[in-house]
Amino acid sequence: MKSKSLSSESNKKSRKSGKPEVLESIIRKTGISAEAILNNAADPVIHIDTDGTIIGCNSVASTILGFENTSLQGRNFLQMIPPDYRHFLKDRMKSSGSPDRENEELFLLRFPDEKGVHNSYEAVVFSYHEDQNESFFVNLWIPDHSRHKLNNQLKEAQGNYEALTETITEAVIMVDESFRILYANSSCIKVFGYNRNELIGSPFAMLFPEEVFSRYSGEFKKYFYMDSLEDERTKRELEVLGRSKNRGVSPLEISFGNSRELEQRILICIIRDISHRKNVERKLRYLAYHDKLTELGNRDLFHTDIEEFFRVYKKHKELCGALLFLDLDGFKQVNDTLGHQAGDMLLISTAKRLRGLMRESDMIYRFGGDEFVILVTKLRRQSDIELICTKILRVIQRAYNFEKQGQNFKVNIGVSIGVALLPSHGRDQETITRHADLAMYKSKESGKNRFTIFSEELTLSAQNKWMIDQGLKTALVNEEMYLHYQPIVDREGTAAGVEALIRWNHPAQGVISPEQFIPSAEESGLINTIGRWVIEHALLEIRRLNKRMKMNLYVSVNVSTRQLMAPDFTDIVDQAITRTGIDPANLRLELTETFFLESPEHTIQVIETLKKNHPGIQIVIDDFGTGYSSLHYLSRLPVDAIKIDRSFIKEIPAENNRKVINSVVNLATSLDMTMVAEGIETEEHKNYPPLASCQYFQGYLFSKPLSYKDLIKYLSSETH
Ligand code: C2E
Ligand code: MG
Ligand code: MG
Repeated sequence: MKSKSLSSESNKKSRKSGKPEVLESIIRKTGISAEAILNNAADPVIHIDTDGTIIGCNSVASTILGFENTSLQGRNFLQMIPPDYRHFLKDRMKSSGSPDRENEELFLLRFPDEKGVHNSYEAVVFSYHEDQNESFFVNLWIPDHSRHKLNNQLKEAQGNYEALTETITEAVIMVDESFRILYANSSCIKVFGYNRNELIGSPFAMLFPEEVFSRYSGEFKKYFYMDSLEDERTKRELEVLGRSKNRGVSPLEISFGNSRELEQRILICIIRDISHRKNVERKLRYLAYHDKLTELGNRDLFHTDIEEFFRVYKKHKELCGALLFLDLDGFKQVNDTLGHQAGDMLLISTAKRLRGLMRESDMIYRFGGDEFVILVTKLRRQSDIELICTKILRVIQRAYNFEKQGQNFKVNIGVSIGVALLPSHGRDQETITRHADLAMYKSKESGKNRFTIFSEELTLSAQNKWMIDQGLKTALVNEEMYLHYQPIVDREGTAAGVEALIRWNHPAQGVISPEQFIPSAEESGLINTIGRWVIEHALLEIRRLNKRMKMNLYVSVNVSTRQLMAPDFTDIVDQAITRTGIDPANLRLELTETFFLESPEHTIQVIETLKKNHPGIQIVIDDFGTGYSSLHYLSRLPVDAIKIDRSFIKEIPAENNRKVINSVVNLATSLDMTMVAEGIETEEHKNYPPLASCQYFQGYLFSKPLSYKDLIKYLSSETH
């Protein structure tokens, strides 16, 4: 591009008619000395060595270039010219002795006068040999050839250019290398508030805040020399802050182009005010990183912030922080009973309360649902976190007030908090997040409305629970669940029925006890699906067993609270009975005392419906004696049997126990209820006097819970 632009038509012509050719041929033909050349040349000639050091120059040169006669000598010619021209001249020096000299043409050179003002010259360079030493002559002169024509062309081009720039809405400004504005279109008034006459001749710098211009002027300079072909990959746009006439500052996008007139380079700037776009971008950014409801940051913002924390932490190791995961306790009930609007209000109030409590430097996020996350970035002492958590618990426990259809509601909720300390509990986002989540899980598990600070021991138990939760979702589909049956025997030791007990063979953890996974299943609601499967499966197998063994055993099925509360529970039992064709007298449902404590009316209603639809079906209270107000309710309940909890049997022969068992047995007898003693492991248990009126036993003394196959074996050996 450089050589192309320097070898313009007009230059070629001047080369043919110009003097350098004469001078050059004289040197070649006559072997004239360097000194003679300088003395005889009518044009400015400078003699330089291969490094560019000026060996000599004629007086015409120093006059025209604007120097004292000898002050050029010893200075470096290459260093004096602008860098952009320097490389070009060097190239010329390299090729000046080569046979394709014929192709050599005039080129444009800029050279400073003594005051440093750059002027343009046309030049030609040729090599000179004396005693085997190579040096160069640079022949310069002020271009005047075809100037008139060129000026006309330029004017015409400028006219076209101006017409074009007036049609576009962006500001177009042309500046010279000293950053003076040469041209401005009329759109400049919209962008900068200056009209074109105010701009032309003024410094480009006035369109920017001072610090912006001083930071970017180097960058702008580059665009003067950027050639489109060479720098295709370089960005042609810059986003910078501009300043308008009223001194308002706004973001600008500037696209650059340049042109090389004969005498100078010109930078063309197309300037757009991008305030509007920036505002839209800012709004979109805000929306993308914030939760609409509470206006807290969202998960994406959290990712960005925590990455930033770790980045800063690497430089300031003394920094300490904490990550808090919060999950509201009881939010779901509010949502379910008072409606989504109340739920939303509660979330908004919670966000406000947290914002009011935490410091400005703490970040608060909502991850969706009732999950909040707090990033404490400046923790003075690790022990401070306990104080923070206690405050959070307190602020959330304060009653929330709502108004719905003119009525005022007061709602109380709690919050489970998990804490991981930064960076001691994780030095990357993934680990720290997992640990805070596990700690929160632990808080939920150990009774909610509390905080737990992460510790390594937590990981194992919480991880197990997490795996259980995940695995439960697919356990039934993957056929990992099956039933065991534990015989329930009469006083003679003959099986009267069996209790169906669920087992889960977890693919990674092996067989997991129902005590471990039933609570999780209750929490997630999966218990309904699992419970339905248990009832259907147990009824099917017991019917098959009775048929095969020609027996009349009953099956006792455990039912959990959430299952019984489900509106379709009675339908599920109806369907299972109808589908399997089992005699309802062979089905017992085991409920725990907590049912009657939590919602006695509903429980009683469900039981009555079942009994009406399926006469013969029996209801058993499981783990009897572990609840507290059971005695009070027992008389009112449509219940047929009680199971004395195995914790009492375990304590035999403690004296206190005897009293409790006696009173339970007396009560059951007086209410005409059947009794089953659970957890009978020894003869001593079985023959324990207070259990004398107990009709049935269940426990390892008779049999452990058995697979269907083993149960058949057990029953077969019993009948022989
Ligand atoms: P549960 O209903 O009280 O069941 C009796 C538990 O005592 C069973 O534990 C049984 O294996 C155990 N057991 C029986 N005899 C003895 C003994 O002599 N000594 C000792 N130490 N233990 C004995 P399992 O199978 O681990 O079940 C635990 C609990 O899980 C059950 O207690 C029941 O509440 C629940 N569960 C089991 N299967 C189901 C189910 O299908 N649905 C529901 N909702 N809960 C179930
Ligand atoms: Mg049971
Ligand atoms: Mg029990």
